Amino acid sequence: MNEMFLLKMGEIVLKGLNRATFEGRLHSNLTRRLKPYGKFKIRLLQSTVYVEPESEDCDLDGAWEACARVFGIAAMSRCRGCEKTIDAIFTACRDYLGDEILMAKSFKVESKRADKKFPMTSIQISQEIGGLLAEEYPDTAVDVHNPEYTVYVEVREEHAYVHGPARPGAGGLPTGVGGKTALLLSGGIDSPVAGYMIGKRGVELECIHFFSYPYTSERAKEKVLDLARIMARYCGRMTVHVVPFTKIQEEIRAKCPEEYFTLIMRRMMMRISEALAERLGCMSLTTGESLGQVASQTMQALMVTNAVCSLPVLRPLIGMDKEEIITVARKIGTMETSILPYEDCCTVFTPRHPKTRPSLQEIEKVEQALEIEALVAAAVEGTEPVRIYARR
Ligand code: ATP
Ligand code: MG
Repeated sequence: MNEMFLLKMGEIVLKGLNRATFEGRLHSNLTRRLKPYGKFKIRLLQSTVYVEPESEDCDLDGAWEACARVFGIAAMSRCRGCEKTIDAIFTACRDYLGDEILMAKSFKVESKRADKKFPMTSIQISQEIGGLLAEEYPDTAVDVHNPEYTVYVEVREEHAYVHGPARPGAGGLPTGVGGKTALLLSGGIDSPVAGYMIGKRGVELECIHFFSYPYTSERAKEKVLDLARIMARYCGRMTVHVVPFTKIQEEIRAKCPEEYFTLIMRRMMMRISEALAERLGCMSLTTGESLGQVASQTMQALMVTNAVCSLPVLRPLIGMDKEEIITVARKIGTMETSILPYEDCCTVFTPRHPKTRPSLQEIEKVEQALEIEALVAAAVEGTEPVRIYARR
């Protein structure tokens, strides 16, 4: 039999009545993600997904990496299937894992028997296969307590499978089981990480980007689209809604006191995002804010920004340090793009001395200088959707 993948489902197995819906999503997400790599047969049985290439020209390495970014998978193994006999299992171990066993100082065999009709217990299988491999590889010691390499044998309903140690999957829940959120996506380090974290909980993303051309360049917008393409490798296809924000920023600058610029701008972002979220069927907003990171992210500032919206605002980074956020950004591959040096709309209009303890009353008073409803409506009308597909 060909090489194939066994993917262990994560939290899905804890679901009761919803389990079928969750599994259906996982199946269709995997089917879509694997499509560029050839034809694969994907089957879900109990808590495992079996992924088998259906032709010789499948790109197994590409498919393997793609699977590692599909939410809902807790652990994954590349394996070889074989007949359910000791002979066939031994031959599969030798042919498929021989190099690894040869290179290791010590090894052991661990077996699982899902097919209770199989005439040997799992301990007997391990002993038998371990004995045969020990004869075949006399220079590798058997060590059942602390082996350098472990050979896994799984005897299941149709076939047996042999593999080495599993690697962790992307975790979380299958994309699409948790509804949709509107992610406020800037070009920075934080918001792509926030999107990834909410996406991991099974939520589909609609991204909203506030664009202040010509204060920020076309390249700054391209950078944001690139970040979305990288996020899409985990979170699935999405749309970036590019909101024209220049007029609003100029109005704020002309009519409001400087120390309030950022907060008023953020309140405008939230109002527009909420209007877009409703149109797009999103049940929440998501931002990359982290408590105390900058003046506009103090508790008072968050209270003031929250006051303009009624949808829940998800802030998955709220308790994380910058270093922790950067670790995730590196892991998901957004960091390098995030630190490219193009201006963001916020940096262009940053006040020299922003208010860190604003009162809601003060803000509401200074905002009276703006035609808020008309500005929000025009921004929503002028928004352009850009469809995003995952970058391979
Ligand atoms: P990030 O690192 O995500 O760019 P930041 O450190 O620049 O965030 P702020 O400018 O205070 O922090 O922005 C806080 C949050 O507001 C961002 O995480 C993002 O969710 C949202 N946001 C900021 N600027 C924009 C923008 N131009 N378009 C869309 N959302 C934005
Ligand atoms: Mg930030």
